[in-house]
Amino acid sequence: MLDTFKHKGLRDRLYRELVQKGITDEAVLEAIRTVPRHLFVEGVFAEEAYLDKALPIASGQTISQPFTVAYQSQLLQLKPKMKVLEVGTGSGYQAAILCKMGMRVFTVEFDRRLFLDARHLLEEQGCEAKTHLGDGSLGWPTYQPYDRILVTAASPVIPDTLRQQLCIGGRMVIPLGNRDTQRMTTVTRIDKNEYRTETLHEFKFVPLRGKYGFEEGA
Ligand code: SAM
Repeated sequence: MLDTFKHKGLRDRLYRELVQKGITDEAVLEAIRTVPRHLFVEGVFAEEAYLDKALPIASGQTISQPFTVAYQSQLLQLKPKMKVLEVGTGSGYQAAILCKMGMRVFTVEFDRRLFLDARHLLEEQGCEAKTHLGDGSLGWPTYQPYDRILVTAASPVIPDTLRQQLCIGGRMVIPLGNRDTQRMTTVTRIDKNEYRTETLHEFKFVPLRGKYGFEEGA
């Protein structure tokens, strides 16, 4: 599918909507204005790609609402070239936003079909994200430590495996709670064994699976 002037116009409108909703990080907003979200959603839903809502993708999962993508990205307090681990590649859209912002992106997906689709799409879009099929609640030890970790599924706990893959001074953003609602939570690694946790607004994400998620199996 092409990226037309109409799509660009719709992205400009989405940009303004996110500013009105309180997103202030110019680098995040600019990435939202640039990345063609309609390419990351399934056929019939492409029409709704620039509405501020979550949409269904394959395997019963969702592409997060643009506000949520922007909010989580802003909370990460990103600086160019940071190493960012994303847990929950999904459609690949959030990974593409992080790439557009100049991050070194490592993204893990539990579901094979989503992993394959997102890998293909990210390559097609020229995003140099490293993609991995596996249980992201265990992080991705091969490339640790990370400056930032972003969890894009609801987690019942802050997995210790993830905390330990943060750099000293690193920061994680994770929706923490039960299956119905979660609070966006930031975790900053102050020192080897010291972390500071802050609890923010309420959200609703699909559940994290895997060892430290809600379900062990696929
Ligand atoms: N970031 C995604 C995007 O931009 O489209 C949206 C993510 S969707 C809300 C949550 C994703 O987390 C789903 O694709 C789901 O399969 C994935 N997921 C759930 N548990 C996981 C785990 N343990 N490891 C990796 N991915 C997981």
